[in-house]
Order: sequence, then structure tokens, then C-alpha cells
Amino acid sequence: MELDVAWTVKWLQLCAEAMAEHRVELIELDRAIGDSDHGENMDRGFQAVLAKLADGPPETPSAALKLTAMTLMSTVGGAAGPLYGTAFLRAATSLGDAARIDPPAWAAALAAARDGIVARGKAEPGDKTMVDAWTPAVDAARDAADGGKADSLAVLVAAADAAEAGAVATDPMVARKGRASYLGERSAGHRDPGAVSSALILRAAVEAAA
Ligand code: ADP
Ligand code: MG
Repeated sequence: MELDVAWTVKWLQLCAEAMAEHRVELIELDRAIGDSDHGENMDRGFQAVLAKLADGPPETPSAALKLTAMTLMSTVGGAAGPLYGTAFLRAATSLGDAARIDPPAWAAALAAARDGIVARGKAEPGDKTMVDAWTPAVDAARDAADGGKADSLAVLVAAADAAEAGAVATDPMVARKGRASYLGERSAGHRDPGAVSSALILRAAVEAAA
């Protein structure tokens, strides 16, 4: 499977599908420890990305991700909008003008995205945020890509599996960043909505290649 611009567009379309499908789940998660808007925010943002993609096909994976970044930045709102905007923009920059994303390039793009989220939001692993999905995903992708023999699908799967496990691992954490941190100890026992939406995004990347 070549991770080219067609794959990238498919990935973004499947992100939009996943956000629509999981809209209510994300709303419920954010109701428990936030203000109930995460599902709406993400669904609105990726519907806007779909509309932008329909306007004109991007020429490279990087161009598709840059368009996504700009669109999410201006439509998602809340804490997540600027964080995801930065993540997609850093990933786009990391890919440069390459026509295809090989396993090391995917691992590097994920690392750039995660670093962007951290630079913007200042959350550390364990703070019960989307960083707790991205960080294990970055590590898993890097390990899977190491040695250069891995096929693309294996690296995508490694990242998505790790992000899902990372989202589940936020359940017992006490939030130290974002709106959920206002709840203090009462934030424990709930899954972080942004970690779940991050895992959905990385799972969509697998489905686009399957
Ligand atoms: P808001 O909290 O403004 O309502 P959303 O509900 O759309 O925004 O997004 C909430 C998610 O954003 C959280 O579940 C968390 O994953 C993520 N988040 C919030 N603050 C930060 C931060 N400082 N760093 C990383 N992620 C954060
Ligand atoms: Mg919210």
C-alpha cells in the first residue's frame, strides 16, 4: 500500500466519517469532565475538511494535511481546534513535498504532530489529554518503522493500537490540563475525549490503507 495523496484524502474522509459516527460518544465523554462540545466540534471541523477537499484535490499528502490544519483551526474551536490545527500543520511540514509517505516519514510526521500539540498545550504524558494517545502512538510507530523493513500498514496499525491503549489508559488519570482539570480528583474514572478522538483519527489512517 502506497501512502500517497489518494490515501491521504481517503484518510481524511474516514476521519470525517468516524467523527460523525462517534459524535454522541465524544459529546458524552466531554459531558462527564468538560462542557459536552467535543463531539460537535470535531464533527463540524471534519465536515468542513470534507467540503474543502471537494473544492479541489490537493496535490501532495502535505498539501492535504495543511488544508486540514487550516480548516480545523478555523472551525473546531475550543481547546482542541488550535491543538489539532497545530498537529496537522506540523505533520504537513514534516512531510515536505514528498509524493509518498514511507514508514519512517509517517513516524516522523506523528512525532512532529505530537510535538506541536505539546508546544501549544504544554501538557505532559499523564495529564489526561490527547497527548496520552499521541505519545504512545509516536513511540510505537518509531519502533515499528525502525530498521526500515516494516510495511506501511504495519506502522499505521502499531500507531493506532497504541493510541487506543493510550486513550483507555487515561481512565484513572487526574486531569492536570484543560477544562477537565477544574474537576481535580473527580476527573478520575472517565476517559479523556481528546485522547479518544485522536485514536479515532489514527484508526482511520489504518482503514484508509486496508
Ligand atoms: P474545550 O475543552 O475547550 O471544550 P474540546 O472539548 O473540543 O475543547 O476538547 C477537549 C480536549 O482537548 C480534552 O479532552 C483534551 O484531550 C484536549 N486538551 C485540552 N487542553 C489540552 C492541553 N493543554 N494539551 C493537550 N490537550 C488538551
Ligand atoms: Mg469541551
